[in-house]
Amino acid sequence: MKGKLDLSRYVNSQTLAQAEAICRDGQVNHLNGQQQKDGSTELTGKCVDSFQFVDHPRVLLSADGDRVLHHACDCPAARAGAGMCAHCAALVLAYCAEN
Ligand SMILES: [Zn+2]
Repeated sequence: MKGKLDLSRYVNSQTLAQAEAICRDGQVNHLNGQQQKDGSTELTGKCVDSFQFVDHPRVLLSADGDRVLHHACDCPAARAGAGMCAHCAALVLAYCAEN
């Protein structure tokens, strides 16, 4: 991780707390960071919640690693257009923890 990404710019404190819990509980699986031609990094993974629902967050990080360029997920919150969901935030947290 080159830059420092401030997730509080993208999610509120409640969603951030959810994301931290998802990350801490090891619910982020198959985390993969793929470098794109333009230097950005596409993160993909699976979040398995306590009900065994699987969500598939995807986040595109800027080349300097301090911005989220794009985020998508198939959970109800993301589909409702409520902004970045806890799964996408958890994906970023897990990636930052590893890199
Ligand atoms: Zn989600």
